[in-house]
Amino acid sequence: MSLAAGTSGVRQSPAAVQSMRALVLIADRKIELRNVAAPPPPPAGEVQIAIKAVGLNHIDVWGWRGMAFAKRKLPLVVGAEAAGEVVAVGPDVTTFKVGDRVVAYGALTCGICKACREGRDNLCENVGGIMGFHVDGFARDLLNMPARLLIAVPAGVSLRDAACAPVAFATVQHMLFDNAKLEPGETLLVQAGGSGIGTVAIKMAKAIGCTVITTVGDDDKAAKAKALGADHVINYRTERFEGVVRKLTAKKGVDVAFEHVGPDTFNGSLFCLKRGGRLVTCGSTSGQSTTINLFQLFLQQYRIFGSFGASMRNIRESLAKMASGLLPVIDTEVALADFERGLARLESRQVFGKIIVTF
Ligand SMILES: [Zn+2]
Repeated sequence: MSLAAGTSGVRQSPAAVQSMRALVLIADRKIELRNVAAPPPPPAGEVQIAIKAVGLNHIDVWGWRGMAFAKRKLPLVVGAEAAGEVVAVGPDVTTFKVGDRVVAYGALTCGICKACREGRDNLCENVGGIMGFHVDGFARDLLNMPARLLIAVPAGVSLRDAACAPVAFATVQHMLFDNAKLEPGETLLVQAGGSGIGTVAIKMAKAIGCTVITTVGDDDKAAKAKALGADHVINYRTERFEGVVRKLTAKKGVDVAFEHVGPDTFNGSLFCLKRGGRLVTCGSTSGQSTTINLFQLFLQQYRIFGSFGASMRNIRESLAKMASGLLPVIDTEVALADFERGLARLESRQVFGKIIVTF
């Protein structure tokens, strides 16, 4: 099976009789809603999905702005995480049937390398690209995907909520539990608690009985973070969070810091850790580089984890959490044509929770 097999739906094909909508990035900060040829019936090993909801993430903002490190060809269909319904299955596919509700893994992993075989999908050695970033993504009516990259959505979980599982929920699940090994009763610092992943981190940590300290940028978000269950909320614009965290933990520091802000907060987050504490990061929205104090790093025996993406197992764990009532916080739902407006809202940090594009 070709790695690109799942992305062939947007090519104009004379054989196609049907057209569909696709949201296409044509230049930096320029997205267009186009009519393109619908994909052919799914070949062996693949399933055709009608996309119903796409979750927006910071990686969409990076792709939209244009990033030097992103090897890609424009035009590119956007959208990195999605949920939908199976509308056709390839001749040999027995794992899914028409009408099944599914989410899709957000990268074209090979399925055969050592990392894939061991369930460390996000370390695939032959990855064909991240959907919506390197290769055509989910913001289109129909696409063919390898069945092995799909996961069934449990009964009772809406497709709108499920659309937050592959990236937002699974990334946090992987960060907190696979990497930082967060335990019940520990204290967690969540930077930017109003962000999509910040809200998930607060809820997941509270669900296992952790104490959560979080930072937000305004008082309105502070109230919302409290309502989510955060034990202590710090407005980082009016208070130095490092000082407050030292005070709240009686100078001991937190067990785990959840980072994705980068240079603006990274050293402060390290400073908030107790000896032997763990910092896990999956992003850097405030810039790319910072300097750290190496003496502090080894004397305090900090452990720092870089985390990107998640495994298929993490997505299943995320959906199971949703089925048991741990649901995403939805900031806004926008229509497909308003995808770019959603990205601008995300970029401006005026969000509390997730932005979902519905079809
Ligand atoms: Zn692989």
